Amino acid sequence: MTDESWVPVPAGSGFGIENLPYGVFARPGELPRVGVAIGEMVLDLAGLAAVGLLDDRRWFASGSLNGFMAAGRPAWQATRARITRLLTDPAHRSEVEPHLIPLPQVELLRPIEVADFVDFYSSIHHAANAGQMFRPHTNPLTPNWRRIPVAYHGRAGTVYVSGTPIFRPWGQRREEHEPEPTYGPSRRLDFEAEIGFVAGVPSVPGYPVPTSAFRDHVFGFLLVNDWSARDIQLWESRPLGPFLGKSFATSISPWVVPVEALEAARVTPPAQAPPVLPYLHCDEPWGLDITLEIELNGHVISRPPFASMYWTPPQQLAHATVGGAPLRTGDLFASGTVSGPEPGQRGCLLELTWNGAEELVLPDGTARTFLEDGDTVTIRAHAPTASGARLTLGEVTGTVRPSPSAPSPAVLGGAP
Ligand code: MN
Repeated sequence: MTDESWVPVPAGSGFGIENLPYGVFARPGELPRVGVAIGEMVLDLAGLAAVGLLDDRRWFASGSLNGFMAAGRPAWQATRARITRLLTDPAHRSEVEPHLIPLPQVELLRPIEVADFVDFYSSIHHAANAGQMFRPHTNPLTPNWRRIPVAYHGRAGTVYVSGTPIFRPWGQRREEHEPEPTYGPSRRLDFEAEIGFVAGVPSVPGYPVPTSAFRDHVFGFLLVNDWSARDIQLWESRPLGPFLGKSFATSISPWVVPVEALEAARVTPPAQAPPVLPYLHCDEPWGLDITLEIELNGHVISRPPFASMYWTPPQQLAHATVGGAPLRTGDLFASGTVSGPEPGQRGCLLELTWNGAEELVLPDGTARTFLEDGDTVTIRAHAPTASGARLTLGEVTGTVRPSPSAPSPAVLGGAP
């Protein structure tokens, strides 16, 4: 696996032979198809299959990865092994080279058809900070937090690929000092830097997926930005929610990194106390040494360590299915905001500015509490590989735009 590819891979690219993430791309005027990133190119898997270089059961001439994701682990392993061979053995170079397309020539599309979307809350540092802000003078962690991976069901229909503009949501909100709620554009728009995983192989209703079966169902990992309107969220989430504070948009990276590519990044997760119930026990270490990097308008503002997450992906999957609800191909599970113990490791503005109390001053002298129209948030992440190199999860980026349809005065019912 550590053999060099004959495709040039620039130093620091992160798209080396040990990564080979899957995505969906299109060239102008052509139908979308499945590809793999290598160096500065995308390898056209539909093209390879069409000339008989790759086994394909109608997986790759497709607008999403779902067909291939449903095929299961033996197919994922065989395909990855074959692509690795094609890209490392010089004997294949002349027949494979016509199927490499420079990345700037393609549009990267949303890689998966999202079935259901679940967002967890699995960083103990994020949960403790949020608890301190919103429930002062109480234990920042609710009594259930160390017992279950807390989560909510989100909105699958508003999961967008990186680069999609994010319209500032309007909604009902009430600040602490306001006697009445008002309707208007969110004044506390935020991002949340997260890592997600996507299910490929469905499960059977009534049969939970144990932690030991994680690899049999989960296809890969990707970056997630769970855009959040804090003012709308805070007002509506008592006692249920989140609802509209998070339903307007979630961004994902265009590349899905196979679980197999992250084997070398596995580390022992933080100790869990009290001990978890047996269905959440995991025999293997499933912490992941992935380092995120968050940029606001081109300035790095935080580097959250995913290895500090309290709940691991297999525990999240086991919990999500323990009631008997089956997995579907395309189910997306996001980690929750990734925040480490240090201030420079916080994964959202809510924490970085302590709910707006402390301005975040950028190197260019501008300052932010929450996001302004025109702001661009970019999240990247990297992880170690078996050879000691780094692989990248690519990036997820989005720019905030004002709402395209300012509501009429009749809808507003007064000044916003
Ligand atoms: Mn979230």
